[in-house]
Amino acid sequence: MNDHRPASADLDEATSASRFDEEAAEVRRFWGRLGLPGLIDVHTHFMPERVLNKVWEYFDAQGPLTGGLAWPISYRQREAERAAVLRRFGVRAFTAMLYPHKPDMARWLNSWAADFARRTPDCLHTATLFPEPGVDTYVREAIEAGARVFKAHVQVGAYDPADELLRPAWGVLAEAQVPVVIHCGSGPAPGKHTGPEPIARVLARHPRLRLIVAHLGMPEYEDFLGLAERYPEIRLDTTMAFTDFTEALMPFPGRALPRLADLGDRVLLGSDFPNIPYPYLHQLHALERLDLGAEWLRAVCHHNAAKLFGLG
Ligand SMILES: [Zn+2]
Repeated sequence: MNDHRPASADLDEATSASRFDEEAAEVRRFWGRLGLPGLIDVHTHFMPERVLNKVWEYFDAQGPLTGGLAWPISYRQREAERAAVLRRFGVRAFTAMLYPHKPDMARWLNSWAADFARRTPDCLHTATLFPEPGVDTYVREAIEAGARVFKAHVQVGAYDPADELLRPAWGVLAEAQVPVVIHCGSGPAPGKHTGPEPIARVLARHPRLRLIVAHLGMPEYEDFLGLAERYPEIRLDTTMAFTDFTEALMPFPGRALPRLADLGDRVLLGSDFPNIPYPYLHQLHALERLDLGAEWLRAVCHHNAAKLFGLG
């Protein structure tokens, strides 16, 4: 693939890799201070290169799903280099969040993700789904092939998560107790089926479904905290929450902090790496400055995910 790269490319690669050395040292100091063996990040994006390029083009063009915001991608590297950056940060396990925006795409994404997991042992084998005939079959096949986490994107996919077509797939996932990271909040821009109500309908049918509400459900934070309080299998990921970028647009209500503290065993570190408009370290500092204590941070940045995924 790289046969036609200019001779200077290797030099560029070395320069851009060392660009993150200083940040890596600071990220390592962060988890070192907490006495952790590293971080576990449940919300990182790896997908086929041409799909990721399309996503980046979308962010560059400030499309409506990004809320029309300027969104410079901080880690626009090649795949191997992005994985290397996470390792340098001391991220012990991460995911390959990928998602279809139309039918007949999820199976192909799942086969790519299975291959990616095979060649990336620190990646939790990830799969995805879409409301379409046969979805329960390929979800079951993905689990049999070793998928340990799924991604569902209600905003980009523009589907109702309570769609009848998905019902058997949610059943399979609930039965297998395989977690699903689901972008279902209405941030940064609402979709036709985002918000807590469709998810409440899914949970009414599948109360044991292990949904991990992405981005803490922003901006409907309190509604999703309510669902987590009601359903013990619900978890929330921190992706982009509490950062300066998000606080300026969709601030987390201070009055809900005690509820977040109480749910400390069900909040998981997520970052949205590499598609973030600020350094990775900022997400960690944004969690630290909540002042919910070292025990809460240890649980969120490592222990909760270690327990959920059976990582020692
Ligand atoms: Zn994401």
